[in-house]
Amino acid sequence: MAFEGLTERLQNAIGKLRKKGKLTEADVKEVMREIRLALLEADVNFKVVKEFIKTVRERSIGAEVLESLTPAQQIVKIVDEELTKVMGEEATPLNKSPKIPTIIMMVGLQGAGKTTTAAKLANKLKTEENARPMLIAGDIYRPAAIDQLKILGQEIDVPVFALGTDVSPVEIVKQGLAQAKENHNDYVIIDTAGRLQIDETLMNELSDIKDLAQPNEILLTVDAMTGQSAVEVAEGFNGKLDVTGVVLTKLDGDTRGGAALSIRSVTGKPIKFMGQGEKITDLDVFHPDRMASRILGMGDMLSLIEKAQRDYDEEQALAMQEKMRENSFDFNDFLVQMEQVQNMGPMEDIIKMIPGMANNPALKNMNFDPKDLERVKAIIFSMTRQERENPDILNPSRRRRIAAGSGRPIQEVNRMIKQFNQMKDMMKKVSNGNFDGMDQMFGS
Ligand code: GDP
Repeated sequence: MAFEGLTERLQNAIGKLRKKGKLTEADVKEVMREIRLALLEADVNFKVVKEFIKTVRERSIGAEVLESLTPAQQIVKIVDEELTKVMGEEATPLNKSPKIPTIIMMVGLQGAGKTTTAAKLANKLKTEENARPMLIAGDIYRPAAIDQLKILGQEIDVPVFALGTDVSPVEIVKQGLAQAKENHNDYVIIDTAGRLQIDETLMNELSDIKDLAQPNEILLTVDAMTGQSAVEVAEGFNGKLDVTGVVLTKLDGDTRGGAALSIRSVTGKPIKFMGQGEKITDLDVFHPDRMASRILGMGDMLSLIEKAQRDYDEEQALAMQEKMRENSFDFNDFLVQMEQVQNMGPMEDIIKMIPGMANNPALKNMNFDPKDLERVKAIIFSMTRQERENPDILNPSRRRRIAAGSGRPIQEVNRMIKQFNQMKDMMKKVSNGNFDGMDQMFGS
């Protein structure tokens, strides 16, 4: 999960202030020291940390904070605002060409996630804008890259232009662009070669492609898990190619957050997208304000809602709501719901987007084992059609048969049915506008 360590440390530091009530300058100094250490430990660039702490300290010892009735909250607000600023204030949209196609060139080191991101971006443009993108396979040094792009292209039904490994990348791009013009593609995404480190030959090749293609956007892909090295790589590429934006990948595995917090300040280039998983849909617009809230453990409801909208079938959701109201929600519906939730990604990550849940101690002891869902599914699969549609008929002998069929203990079957019935009750109440008892759902 992204930024776990940093969130915890920041929350601890600020939590101490909450207990104090009125604050003195010495209290502020102490908390700034802790925030500074937390950021350095998160691998944030030291110049960025220095500047950040200076600003937050100056703002925090102002009279309006120390004399306010809620100084700790005021400081959280300042930290939140300054984190947002460090990451670039507002989401930066893709640069678009006034006439088609918009040309996007992907650059980055090998393994950073360039090829995957090229396909994720094509898919995003296709599904969200109804666009007709084309991908160009310009990485001729890693033969597998061409196949990888072709496979991904097939998966998302986006054409991939490739000429194998014997033609120069510049020539491939030239012919690819001609084809895109002919086919009236509105976006062209060029995948280029990477190396393990920045080297002169690679940079020259990328410069040649840039000169030829005149891209509207040069997106540098960097691996967030590499922390400060990602920042150095970004400086290196930016110095040679003057990139227009950064895609931060593998944020799902980045527990520290140093790259996300440093890249914008150090390079002056906006983070436009973030990769948060290996699935084709795991690419999101980078919103500095939402990210700041997430880092502070304040949740990210907006992203959660967007995620749900994207992964959720609206018609199906409405049908479910109707069923809940009528109390006709059965085990078949339950299966569908469970599958939709599974599609949204790991349960821990989803729950942490809810305000207050990021470092909630109750969550620490909760174990969201994906196997639990599989066990529940096994139990449902062992029910007959009639049983799934009429859970009320599940008498002891039927339950025993289901337990034997699914290979799960009878207690587990009983517990699952009990929980299903409680949930059904709750849903009925909530969908009829009665929220009493919601607390039980999270409390026990
Ligand atoms: P390239 O050499 O830069 O083209 O890198 P690839 O696109 O081949 O990606 C390298 C590896 O990183 C692959 O296994 C990808 O599935 C994985 N990857 C890319 N983006 C992400 C991400 O956002 N999260 C995770 N967990 N893995 C990613």
